[in-house]
Amino acid sequence: MLKPVKLATLRALRSAGIFSLVANSRWRQQRLLILCYHGVSIDDEHLWRPYLYIQPHKLQQRFEALKKGRFSVLPLGESLQRLGAGTLPPRSVALTFDDGGYDFFQQAYPLLKAYGFPATVYQTTYYTSLEKPVFNLMCSYMLWMRRMEVIENAEMVGLSGPLDIRTEAGRFATVRRLIESSEREGRTGIQKDELAARLATLLKIDYGKLKAKRILQLMNGRELEEIARGGIDVQLHTHRHRTPENEQLFRREIQENRATIQRFVAGDPTHFCYPSGVYQQTFLSWLRKENVLSATTCDAGLAERDSESLLLPRYIDHQDRSQVEFESWISGVGDLLAVRRKAAQTHFPVQLQAR
Ligand SMILES: [Zn+2]
Repeated sequence: MLKPVKLATLRALRSAGIFSLVANSRWRQQRLLILCYHGVSIDDEHLWRPYLYIQPHKLQQRFEALKKGRFSVLPLGESLQRLGAGTLPPRSVALTFDDGGYDFFQQAYPLLKAYGFPATVYQTTYYTSLEKPVFNLMCSYMLWMRRMEVIENAEMVGLSGPLDIRTEAGRFATVRRLIESSEREGRTGIQKDELAARLATLLKIDYGKLKAKRILQLMNGRELEEIARGGIDVQLHTHRHRTPENEQLFRREIQENRATIQRFVAGDPTHFCYPSGVYQQTFLSWLRKENVLSATTCDAGLAERDSESLLLPRYIDHQDRSQVEFESWISGVGDLLAVRRKAAQTHFPVQLQAR
């Protein structure tokens, strides 16, 4: 959340008509805003990870602002072509959703249909076929659910206790130990899910109920087919949500990701998004070899005609952004006032990584 002084400034600029002045300027027309979303809460995920989730009613407020302000919400591919050709319509925006969680299917997709907005989903695919909760995230979420407690009997999940999970650092350390023990023992996806179920029992959480909600699960093949039929553009985000620093392994991530998407969605995905926004210059030539035409980061900014097409900036929207801040970005004022642009080049604690 921005500081009160900055929010007050933005509100004053909006009242003075500066937002619409900039939104309708020639400067803004030559630029494209690519909006980035991650999860849309099914339950209380925005309280657990406010920087990764947004509540559905808040997302609807964003869409309402786009509609009221007559923004041109374009499909990503078309918007990038027109950015290059210099033929963007006024107030151009492209909507992107990272990861392809089931919450997209349940919460965002109906809203997109209601507003008639095109969107791109950057789909990571390891868990698409597994149809289990994403292990790291589920462990982290369940520990957060019991965040007031110290847990005894950690032997149940193969750890020596007690587990002090009252702080973010304590929960992070616990998830890390669970991941490390899984790697050491070479647990499969199914075995990791069994471990998550034991953790749930230890924490006195009804795992079956949590799974039935499809919280922290990805869309399965049937759901991908359905959104693709409904016009959603499904694109690349690596198979295991990671970017190895070895060319062969990196390119295999793209190949497996593309092949899995193509089992359910017609066409050839050629747009990519860096997992966790982490990138290196060496990745660009590897992406070109895999026929990737565009790649988006988590760095803040509007895309320009001469932006590097494999390092496109976006604006990351989430629960902790206020509406006026969002409106400042769609108008272009946010870009003009931006101080910090580059996203942290570290993977978020307990990310979506699948091995
Ligand atoms: Zn991601």
